Amino acid sequence: MSRQRFDAISESRNRTRIPVEESGRRSALHATYVFNEERMLQYLTKDALQSVQSAIFSGSKIERKIADQVAEAMKGWAISMGATHYTHWFQPLTGATAEKHDAFFDLLPDGRALEKFGGGQLVQQEPDASSFPSGGIRNTFEARGYTAWDPTSPAFIYDATLCIPTIFVSYTGEALDNKAPLLRALHAIDESATAVAKYFDKNVAKVNATLGWEQEYFLIDKSLAQSRPDISIIGRTLVGRSAAKGQQLDDHYFGVIPQRAIRFMKDLEIECTRLGIPVKTRHNEVAPNQFELAPVFEEANLAVDHNLLLMDVMDKIADRHHFKVLFHEKPFAGINGSGKHNNWSLATDTGVNLLSPGSTPMKNLQFLTFFINTIKAVDTYEELLRSSIASASNDHRLGANEAPPAIFSIFIGEQLSNVLDELEGVSKGKLSPEEKTELKLNVVGKIPEILLDNTDRNRTSPFAFTGNKFEMRGVGAKTNCAKPMTILNTIVAKQLRDFKKEVDLLIDKKNLKKDEAIFNVLREYIKTSKRIRFDGDGYSDNWQKEAKRRKLSNNKTTPEALKVLTSKESLALFASMEVLSETEVKARLEVELEAYTLHLEIEGRLYNELVFNHIIPSAITYQKSLIDSVLGLKEIYGAAHKELTEGPSGIIEIIAENIAALKKKTDAMNEIRKKANNLSDIQRKASAYSESVKPYFDEIRTHCDNLERWVDDGHWPLAKYRELLFM
Ligand code: ADP
Ligand code: MG
Repeated sequence: MSRQRFDAISESRNRTRIPVEESGRRSALHATYVFNEERMLQYLTKDALQSVQSAIFSGSKIERKIADQVAEAMKGWAISMGATHYTHWFQPLTGATAEKHDAFFDLLPDGRALEKFGGGQLVQQEPDASSFPSGGIRNTFEARGYTAWDPTSPAFIYDATLCIPTIFVSYTGEALDNKAPLLRALHAIDESATAVAKYFDKNVAKVNATLGWEQEYFLIDKSLAQSRPDISIIGRTLVGRSAAKGQQLDDHYFGVIPQRAIRFMKDLEIECTRLGIPVKTRHNEVAPNQFELAPVFEEANLAVDHNLLLMDVMDKIADRHHFKVLFHEKPFAGINGSGKHNNWSLATDTGVNLLSPGSTPMKNLQFLTFFINTIKAVDTYEELLRSSIASASNDHRLGANEAPPAIFSIFIGEQLSNVLDELEGVSKGKLSPEEKTELKLNVVGKIPEILLDNTDRNRTSPFAFTGNKFEMRGVGAKTNCAKPMTILNTIVAKQLRDFKKEVDLLIDKKNLKKDEAIFNVLREYIKTSKRIRFDGDGYSDNWQKEAKRRKLSNNKTTPEALKVLTSKESLALFASMEVLSETEVKARLEVELEAYTLHLEIEGRLYNELVFNHIIPSAITYQKSLIDSVLGLKEIYGAAHKELTEGPSGIIEIIAENIAALKKKTDAMNEIRKKANNLSDIQRKASAYSESVKPYFDEIRTHCDNLERWVDDGHWPLAKYRELLFM
């Protein structure tokens, strides 16, 4: 056994128990590190408080004078909490978060020290962030990017640093991050949904999109993880034979949480609570060492920030517990990978969930309006929605019968399907009083207030209605939820805007009553969006065929999936909703394709390291010991065991063949990679990686895993699945 593997295994067996802080009542700790409304009430003047509140509610600007006051208050609070630094916390297009810390501490010209942080530092900063991907938006001579305060997500203290959530934009105003477009999309959905919600309640002044994510992850012993180049660098195993036992017994899912994991979770939850992340649910997932954590849902922008912060906190707390957390969508072959369901709905400032059926026909008409418009939006823009969850790592999951397929469809369950079928039969134009009564009592009135128990029976659906929200299930575990949330809210906003126009037209021109007009438009939508509804088995081959017949997109790889971003329709949508300009969309496409290519390039290089520096040398060492044995046997007995020497089943032969194949395949992969690297067009380069380079990875892996099967355990250099997956 390699020294590295031996040390890692011994270390992992000798983990001492990490003391866990006693939590007591969680509510007492809640958001103590957050400059939220409660703190603001305490630290801000009435004027400043009102100004921040109205910025949160309506996006109004905060005056510099007020910003100074807020900064002063934040600084006072942060320093009293032990913070020494502050940072603008932003989400560049790398997918992670970024920060650059500055000390509050400053020196005056006369040498005296003071703590400095004013409105200027709060509102805007210019980090020298020229190395972040921009898709060509910033030329190197004008590489400046600005971070600007997002008052809708409260500042918080993390690691003795006051973190101020910000957007990141170029000197010329283009978004260079994932937050700015999300905020624009949330503004769009607020406008469109509020206008439609007013049909039902004049008092609605604001609609928030809500998001409840469910984060899946793996916990791996730190020293074991570090002993493998693939896990330490990309968070997934590029080689590794399945352990005798994986998830086939279904004994991990919802099982007793291992002690080591529960101690980590307790520590994590305390930290999250202080940071205002409302974590609620924890449980074992399907694969060994796989877990899930889910919070109470929140306003979408805040929920996105909280998920990003959570992933960072998890890394840090895991380290304290000698774990490495894997967020990669497919860390291990042969067992489930990790996703992040995005539960989504719309909530009014009057406290109503617009996707929740109610107790009166009017409330249910409101529910149906938002429900059917969402279905229609997903039908129109299914390919765009698919593109929002595309990444090199998520490609491993989508369509692999553990996560939904790459085809988008909507599951609504039998009960609601029946309601939609009946609505479809409503006659065109004006409704007779009898028809109205029939509709109200027997169709709309029949929707039970609580649908929860009757839906959600289909786990293979990528977009399922689960009683009072839609659940988008193809999102990858690593993904920044801002991406799918930006697209989903944009397309629903566009759809609701179109809907309002159509309804108003019927009211004005055709003299229809409001509810008649609504019924009329909804009926058309039900008819024209039928192809997106699918309640069957999303994993089946039949669905692949059926979906093709329905002309639904089925983009299995990232380079394919991303193409739609710059279609005429997509560009028109982003422009009309003021979410992304053409320049911004094109830049994003370039950044995504580049990220995809680089990801596969790194994997290709890692295969070289694994194959030539670890696996082949170990196989040769073992092979040599076999050859020595054969020679010795021949010397003593005049012959050796056939099992060792004679092909194709002789062990020496098997090893020799796999070594030869590995050398050949890895060389070939490198050649193809060089060719791909020479392509200057990024779309062609990404496709070359996807179509020509990536298939070699599986072949290389097969030979590595064959060798793992035959080579003596003592000679094997890499921690095995059995060691990695069972704590
Ligand atoms: P599952 O069965 O998929 O595990 P649950 O029904 O327990 O899911 O809920 C999962 C998530 O849905 C939770 O994170 C919860 O916060 C979220 N959720 C519930 N209601 C809403 C809503 N109105 N908007 C957004 N998310 C919601
Ligand atoms: Mg779920």
